[in-house]
Amino acid sequence: MSKDIQYIHEFDFSLISSFFKRIDRQGPGSPQVTKRALSFIDNLPVVSRIADIGCGSGGQTITLAENAEAHITALDLLPDFVAKLNGKIKDLKLENRIETIEGSMAALPFSDGELDLIWAEGSIYNIGFEKGLCEWHRFLKDHCYIAVSEASWLRDNQPAEIQEFWQNDYPDIDTVSNKVKIMEKAGYVPVAHFVLPEDSWIKNFYEPMPPAMESFLKEHDYSIGAKEFVKLMQHEIDMYMKYKEYYGYVFYIGKKI
Ligand code: SAH
Repeated sequence: MSKDIQYIHEFDFSLISSFFKRIDRQGPGSPQVTKRALSFIDNLPVVSRIADIGCGSGGQTITLAENAEAHITALDLLPDFVAKLNGKIKDLKLENRIETIEGSMAALPFSDGELDLIWAEGSIYNIGFEKGLCEWHRFLKDHCYIAVSEASWLRDNQPAEIQEFWQNDYPDIDTVSNKVKIMEKAGYVPVAHFVLPEDSWIKNFYEPMPPAMESFLKEHDYSIGAKEFVKLMQHEIDMYMKYKEYYGYVFYIGKKI
């Protein structure tokens, strides 16, 4: 693949935010997936403290609130996503349960041993899987849990085209067994992991994109930057459809030791 192809992380935040605020999720997932990951977490106190890191517009935040008696702090870097989540919280009258913060996952506003559960769906890659697991460890109470989803290789011998795509986009992509090892080394018992079903990508993430692309292009007057962005998203979709047997998102659930 030629080097003149840009990658999503190289675009400025305003374009990223303008595109992704149009769709319900900013990464692959579903309420069923969130609930399945939650089912592996034992002994959550009746009123627990959960941090939902890189919450986006809150795809999983509301599911967490509906399925755990918890006070949730949902944090994201991009104000547009936080604003969208604030709207949902208001509509559902969940103000007492969910607090939102515009902030960085690299400088979390928690104290040591404060949290019963750390959640990061499709977002830990922003800090890096290993770094996130290591740095966030201290915010958890002993024997409490972390649940993160992360792009992972599902098969060996990946064709060069898809290897190169990920090398540019997220070189930390690795096999499931290597990710589990990293989790172990970072100070967690790997309690469970499971591969997200294809629908989490296709139905919930990629299918809503074509209409979003249309309105996004229109709003940006078909600017070169907007057109490049859309081209890239389309390329990402094409790669997934062609190589989905080789990679996917995997949920990793670990218990602090
Ligand atoms: N959890 C959501 C969003 C996943 S996309 C979902 O599954 O739908 C990744 C999210 O991480 C985006 O919302 C992005 O704004 C956020 N993000 C990126 N860098 C970040 C950082 N340094 N700190 C906090 N959030 C960040």
